[in-house]
Amino acid sequence: MSFAASVLTLYPEMFPGALGLSLAGRALEAGTWSLEAIQIRDFATDKHRTVDDTPAGGGAGMVMRADVLARALDHASPPGDERPRLLMSPRGKPLTQARVRELAAGPGAVILCGRFEGVDQRLIEARGLEEVSIGDFILSGGEPAALVLLDAVVRLLPGVMGNAVSGEEESFENGLLEHPHYTRPQEFEGRPIPDVLISGNHKKIADWRRAEAEKLTRERRPDLLAADQPLVK
Ligand code: SAH
Repeated sequence: MSFAASVLTLYPEMFPGALGLSLAGRALEAGTWSLEAIQIRDFATDKHRTVDDTPAGGGAGMVMRADVLARALDHASPPGDERPRLLMSPRGKPLTQARVRELAAGPGAVILCGRFEGVDQRLIEARGLEEVSIGDFILSGGEPAALVLLDAVVRLLPGVMGNAVSGEEESFENGLLEHPHYTRPQEFEGRPIPDVLISGNHKKIADWRRAEAEKLTRERRPDLLAADQPLVK
């Protein structure tokens, strides 16, 4: 069974976008995953196809209407659809590699992309949406966030990455940032590759990489070392 993504958006032209190329694009062509981009505007009922309105209580910007979004969601994800329903949102739980792995192991995802000031709170509650953030910054819309999430998920699907081992050694997979990498030439602008990496001693190389990963993590992301939750179950 392949991973089925349905994305609800005002800009379906943004999909598959970058995910139509490289590993994700080949996997899409091969049917390892599928992507359906649904135009939210098609579920508006007035002649101007309105999807937003002014915020209750006043203030700047516009809010996406609960009724229009509910119709779009119910079309994309009818009762019995087992896929999680996600709302890309800066107020959401920050996306982690652990959540990405869970999603990749499931049947797919229904992803709602916000625009303007965001979506009516009642829609989030009534449809049990899981709010997911890709970081502490504000995008102009949920589409780039959905592309980021799907990119992270799709590369984990069986058969997508040529060398499956490299996925397990990646940053975050063992609670550490990854060690530095080197390749030819042996010397670049006076900087040689560290001796240990050309020693041929696999035990020493593994120990060196582990030590570098720990040092880097201590310097840059001490929060990862302090986390009491394993990053990957
Ligand atoms: N007024 C909102 C921001 C709206 S940005 C606030 O202050 O919280 C418009 C849309 O972009 C959001 O509805 C969401 O879908 C998307 N978005 C913006 N930043 C995001 C982030 N960091 N992660 C995921 N989605 C984001």
